[in-house]
Amino acid sequence: VSAAAEARVIAVDVGGTAIKAAVLDDGGRTSRRVEHSTPVSEGPSAVIDAVRQTARDLAGPELVAAGVVVPGSVDVATGTARYSANIGWRDVPLRDLLTADLGVPVTVEHDVRAAGLAECTLGRARGVSNCLIAVIGTGIAGLVVAGGAAQRGAVDMAGEIGHLPVYPDGETCACGQRGCLETYASAAAIRRRYRAAGGGAMDTPAIVAARDSDPRADRVWRDATEALGLALVSATMLLDPALVVLAGGLAAAGTVLLDPVREALGTRLAWRSAPPVELSPLAARAGLLGAALLAWRCVGRTDFSTWTVA
Ligand SMILES: [Zn+2]
Repeated sequence: VSAAAEARVIAVDVGGTAIKAAVLDDGGRTSRRVEHSTPVSEGPSAVIDAVRQTARDLAGPELVAAGVVVPGSVDVATGTARYSANIGWRDVPLRDLLTADLGVPVTVEHDVRAAGLAECTLGRARGVSNCLIAVIGTGIAGLVVAGGAAQRGAVDMAGEIGHLPVYPDGETCACGQRGCLETYASAAAIRRRYRAAGGGAMDTPAIVAARDSDPRADRVWRDATEALGLALVSATMLLDPALVVLAGGLAAAGTVLLDPVREALGTRLAWRSAPPVELSPLAARAGLLGAALLAWRCVGRTDFSTWTVA
């Protein structure tokens, strides 16, 4: 593969709400960026078509690789999107489809693992050997870094903190369990619980902004941050992390999220200190940056020390 100075990669972050894509050079500079809503209601094949069209629209002669990150379960070795509850697809050979479309190497990865890679390479967790990166968006999942290595687990399911039970007899989760963290603290759960409490159909930032004047918004937000704090108690006991990073779209809420989560974690721990909890500087961009890093790694680049994420 040519290492021409003008070489570019395409990064695609397929989410349950939006398909975000960008073209980046090997210094991490973005030259083009697009965002389309994910046509989930039109069925899985419409989403696949939208992903392929988005990538083709960004392709050019300078393209050397592409990285695509998707939610749900991913077979990284074959580049197959195995299953996603949010999108409804099963066993989609994304890597083969996009390689045929673009004519360059393509990497497919789990969105949270890619976001965690960005966090460890470019963000707060750079150089930290033991940490937990909690990615809080439409759903919640995490990346566990232990002894300097991202953990995949026995069947690629390490880090599924969204399905830690935080309230044993709590609300039923879409996964079939009860009282899962994700049922209380994901952006989707916050919207759903606010509506169920009699509030309107509002997005998460609006609910956060309303909590001083609307007791329902305040209650839902307290439940979310308390649930996150409880989950981090379990994570702290299991992992003894040097750092916990809160990433994903909800991290954009800032100290409104960070302060109550730190407090919930700190007050629940009695005999050991809490690990530092920090906000990701990448927030909702982490997945896309992770996809770009994976694309560059797939053509042999390993030094990202000059990338800035300001
Ligand atoms: Zn669950």
